[in-house]
Amino acid sequence: MLAAIDLLAQSAPAMYFNPLKLLAAIVLFVAYALFSQWVDKDTVRVNTYKILWNLVVLAVGIVSTVTMLFVPQFLIGSLVFLVMYIIIVAVYVVHRNGLVEEQYKVLTPEHISRVMKEGFGGNKKKLIDVKERVRLLAGKKVIAIPEVQEEREQYRLAQDMLFAVLWRRAALVEIVPAGQASKITFQIDGITSEYGRPPRAEGDAIVAFLKRACGLNLEERRKPQTGQLTAVTGDNRIDLLIRTDGSAAGERLTLRCVGPEKTYKIPDLGLTDAQKDQIMELVHGGNGVTLLTATPASGLTTTTYALARSHDAFLLNIQTLEYNKEFQIENVTQHVYEPSPEKTFAADLLKIVRTDPDVIFIPEIRDKEAAKIACEAGAHKQKVYVAFQAIDPLDAIWKWLRLLGDNGLVAKSLRAVVNQRLIRKLCPECKQPYKPDAAQLRKLNLPPDKVLYRPPEPQYDKNGQPIICQNCHGTGYYGRTGVFDVAIVDDALRDVLKRAKTLAEIQSHLQKQGSGGIQAQALQKVFDGTTSIQEVVRATKPPAAKEGDGAPAPPSAPPAGGAGSAPRPQNPGSKPAQPTR
Ligand SMILES: [Zn+2]
Repeated sequence: MLAAIDLLAQSAPAMYFNPLKLLAAIVLFVAYALFSQWVDKDTVRVNTYKILWNLVVLAVGIVSTVTMLFVPQFLIGSLVFLVMYIIIVAVYVVHRNGLVEEQYKVLTPEHISRVMKEGFGGNKKKLIDVKERVRLLAGKKVIAIPEVQEEREQYRLAQDMLFAVLWRRAALVEIVPAGQASKITFQIDGITSEYGRPPRAEGDAIVAFLKRACGLNLEERRKPQTGQLTAVTGDNRIDLLIRTDGSAAGERLTLRCVGPEKTYKIPDLGLTDAQKDQIMELVHGGNGVTLLTATPASGLTTTTYALARSHDAFLLNIQTLEYNKEFQIENVTQHVYEPSPEKTFAADLLKIVRTDPDVIFIPEIRDKEAAKIACEAGAHKQKVYVAFQAIDPLDAIWKWLRLLGDNGLVAKSLRAVVNQRLIRKLCPECKQPYKPDAAQLRKLNLPPDKVLYRPPEPQYDKNGQPIICQNCHGTGYYGRTGVFDVAIVDDALRDVLKRAKTLAEIQSHLQKQGSGGIQAQALQKVFDGTTSIQEVVRATKPPAAKEGDGAPAPPSAPPAGGAGSAPRPQNPGSKPAQPTR
């Protein structure tokens, strides 16, 4: 028996391990495994190269292990392992600490003393206190308050931001990396302003929470991903459409809030009574093409869908062909064009026309072929609505003529052209009446005792603190409404279209028809107290000259209205661009 053991020991010396050495080796391995696990999670937290760091840590681990096994003296082998371990930890910690704010750094004297005070289990003992301020649903499932400390912190930050988003009525939120910080902007009533610049880790935490809540891939921080949540406050249900993608600077998130506009119909848009009648005539009338146009971000998408919703979906066969489906419309067949070399948009449109629907909506059109099919369908049998960007009805008609290159077909099929802007409505809580000076009133053709409204001057309390209206948060405006210019194609205009070679010929006819142009329409909303002159000046500026955001322009009377008074585009023949909301 003894001889057998002796033999075994001699034949397989490598099998023999001192239990103490074995224990030491296990401790080193476990420590290394914990470190690599932490690096895997931490790279996501601090937003650095996850795969690269995992590979580096793995490679160093393999090299150290092999060294330890092949160096004959165990002590030297494990020392080599330990030294390499310490080097890789130090390199990673220096790298990751360089990416975060002071309070998120690890292995600093402050961090160590904090851990000593709270203990390693300190996190679990006192979970941070978080409240649900905005109820969030993913589908029908309520998003619960997380149990894990790190996710609770993300939840708290996201809840604070979402509460502000809903309270301030932001329609668009962007979280964009800006160096060590994250820049958060809100778009409220079409005006973008900065909400805050929290440390990058906080911005990333909000992004991580929203991505997890709508089931997006947390690891994917470059390719675009989209998801949806519903926010509930009281009776309000707001859809939150979330999109993430990455740039060289890091991952950014866009959040679009869609409220009541997803159910809008014609009466909700802000048309005058006369315009409503004109549009209802189009809805109930015969075949032909209607052009729906606006400058970028002027409510065109909302109007297009509202019109689609205003047709009787039970009696009529209504179909759409869209590049992006923005909203669902009940009982309407919505086709989404999937770009492919074999199948053009025009071919898809032709297929739809051949199924003989009553109404066709094209919320975006890019090519001549499709425009031609739309015109021919309109000329024959169907009611066709086509949306694209244009600054006024004249610009719209000119672009349409240039795109088609066939005056006869346009004249035969065109029924009407609608153009619109969005203007902010004065806050009913704080708007202030004033009497404009006599010269201004004369210029606007108003009686000398006419009272108009505008946002209040800044006000201060006894201590010099600004008094801010709680309804509009000091912007002076609350919500927006559409302003429309509707041109109906009558026989005289049809004649002009047939032979028109220049803009001027069409322009003089539209002026005779006399809607007065978008500015004149917007001024009506100043006279009835809905908005201010400053806002009309701001909102009806041609897009090129319009400032992106900031304070409204100083008070001044707009020039006399008229379709002809708007500057002409540099290149009226350019293709209709992608419409925006
Ligand atoms: Zn107010």
